[in-house]
Amino acid sequence: MSERQEAGTATPHRVLVLGAGYAGMAAAVQLAARVGRRDDVRVTLVNAQERFTERLRLHMTATGQRVAQLGIPQLLEGTGARFVRGWVTAVDADARTVRIDDDRVLHYDTLVYGLGGVADPAAVPGVEDHAFTLDSAQDAELLAGRLARLGSGTVVVAGTGLTGVESAAEIAERYPELTVVLLGRGEPGAAMHPNAGAYLRSALARLGVEVCGAVEVVKVLPHAVGLAGGERIAADVVLWTCGTRTSPLAAAAGLTVDERGRVVTDATLRSVSHPDVYAVGDAAAIRQRYGVMHGTCQGGMPTGVHAAVSIVRALRGKRPRPFRFGYYHTPVSLGRHDAVVQFTRPDDSPRRVYLTGRTAARYKETVTASPWPTYGRMKKAPASGAFWPRGGRFTREER
Ligand SMILES: Cc1cc2nc3c(=O)[nH]c(=O)nc-3n(C[C@H](O)[C@H](O)[C@H](O)COP(=O)(O)OP(=O)(O)OC[C@H]3O[C@@H](n4cnc5c(N)ncnc54)[C@H](O)[C@@H]3O)c2cc1C
Repeated sequence: MSERQEAGTATPHRVLVLGAGYAGMAAAVQLAARVGRRDDVRVTLVNAQERFTERLRLHMTATGQRVAQLGIPQLLEGTGARFVRGWVTAVDADARTVRIDDDRVLHYDTLVYGLGGVADPAAVPGVEDHAFTLDSAQDAELLAGRLARLGSGTVVVAGTGLTGVESAAEIAERYPELTVVLLGRGEPGAAMHPNAGAYLRSALARLGVEVCGAVEVVKVLPHAVGLAGGERIAADVVLWTCGTRTSPLAAAAGLTVDERGRVVTDATLRSVSHPDVYAVGDAAAIRQRYGVMHGTCQGGMPTGVHAAVSIVRALRGKRPRPFRFGYYHTPVSLGRHDAVVQFTRPDDSPRRVYLTGRTAARYKETVTASPWPTYGRMKKAPASGAFWPRGGRFTREER
């Protein structure tokens, strides 16, 4: 119960969730389902678009594949939560307000900050002007248009992380007439078990992807990428998937952030500098015993659910519990008919067990398709969203 409510005023406790990505959606739906239609709590979700962006499918969108149109306001129907479409331009953490691009000002008592992350366009010169990214559905659609018109030529995918691998494979499978070059500092699949990594690289080779796994891209030019050492690789299209950057809004608001602009949280996911702010998903720097979590959907959704449960506990005068999460898999698509699913320990190190081929592709599709129905189930049974691996001894703090 907030101080204002204890003082007997009628103003509800206002929870504002910023960002309807995997984490923010989980927070908003979980919270709305738990508070029901109580008139002393008001939940508002703010997002740039009304359509839910399935980031996990952006490489499919980028290759002209149709993906489902998922409406955020429709999903919230019946929950009592309000949806505001708009681009957040500022957070005032002292006044507890958020400004939207149409100059609306929204007030909050508790903020859930879930604005996600994007590839870092400032990583090297030329990215902003000459490269495509997969940061939003619009970005992916732009790339789709370019690839469809290309006919022949070379596509350079910069970044040998999982987004780069999935994108290169998808483009090569969809457009066999194009030359696809995957460039980056490390070998693709290097974090996997050696056999799983070898499978991944052989699948890329089978699709005709040319891999250069020990290069540093230092600039992107109109028709080439420049490498450290002076070499240039001609490119008709460059897709940039390297590095991550988060919105500058949290730092501008005076929240404590890490070197990537992520909100530093305590064990319960509250900002260490502003306890009335919870941070979730890729926008949060969440420390577990094994280290700071890296951005994934598998970890992002639990952070949203946990923040919602914590807010409900706090409203009831209870202390929020520490958040614990252990990874369990890394599913990587290799086109539509192949994939590698690397099973992991809770600290994300690879186990010996992995899946490949069509079984792995079906597994990956099941994982990719699961968030939206999960939100639907949470509306009716919020507890159904509260199951995830807590990480056992990997996340248990020593007393
Ligand atoms: C091609 C690709 C494949 C991937 N595959 C996997 C996978 O297999 N498994 C996995 O676990 N992870 C995967 N990821 C990573 C995963 O997508 C992210 O970790 C996840 O999306 C993070 O969720 P989030 O809610 O924190 O942020 P996001 O999903 O990025 O959502 C952030 C939301 O905030 C909105 N927003 C941002 N700024 C503003 C603003 N100023 N105002 C209003 N709204 C704003 C955005 O529009 C968006 O809706 C993949 C990513 C990509 C690009």
